[in-house]
Amino acid sequence: MILFGDYHTHTIYTHGKSTIEENVLVAIKKGLKEVAITEHSYKHFAHPVKRKNIKVMREEVDRLNKKYPEIKILLGLECNLLGVNGEIDLTDEEEKMLDLVVLGYHKTFKPTFKNFFKFLIPNTFRIGQASKKRIEINTNAYINAMKKHKIDILAHLKYANCTVDVKKIADFAGTQNTYIELNGKRINFTDEEILDVVNSNAKFIIDSDAHICDKVGENNHALNILTRLNIPQEKVANIGKTPTFKNHKG
Ligand SMILES: [Zn+2]
Ligand SMILES: [Zn+2]
Repeated sequence: MILFGDYHTHTIYTHGKSTIEENVLVAIKKGLKEVAITEHSYKHFAHPVKRKNIKVMREEVDRLNKKYPEIKILLGLECNLLGVNGEIDLTDEEEKMLDLVVLGYHKTFKPTFKNFFKFLIPNTFRIGQASKKRIEINTNAYINAMKKHKIDILAHLKYANCTVDVKKIADFAGTQNTYIELNGKRINFTDEEILDVVNSNAKFIIDSDAHICDKVGENNHALNILTRLNIPQEKVANIGKTPTFKNHKG
């Protein structure tokens, strides 16, 4: 099983340890055909990208694409799911500079006053299991985000206590060509949930979520799950082929 691309990596533009070029060089060394740079968007609490740097990164990615024609370098953003109505931290103007949009729930982010109490507190700071109502609210938040925005990848679902109905999300993601990520740092799915995705029209995408260049293109945990659960390669967008992302240029 060979990964054709890694679509979730960080750099020194947020809290990664390596430059864009270092990530690219490792990706080339590992034989990837594509690599994406996807920093935390600006409402991440601890490590937001500086908004003015999105343009700087776009120029750097364009320059590196000319320098290294053997690989396709994509610029994305790892946006934060900010609220119950599917609010995310991405403006139209910024989206036009991107090749893909990744969406994730993180432990801390900067929501509105209302969503601080309705969304962040009941998830991140919840003690005990999520109620049925909470799972429904979270699931709808993701579905609303996919309705409102062109989301290419749902990163690390169920991370940071944001419990969701994976089957419902996968069913909707399948209608939107939104990929469900098997993340290199955190896979919170049960085997049953993985099989729910397999049985939906949605596809997985395997990413490293590398914060240092050495980890680019690495995700043995996901590859082991595929083998263990006998998941067909056709269900993964970046094994043996490259995924198709939405047009964000407007
Ligand atoms: Zn993340
Ligand atoms: Zn990340």
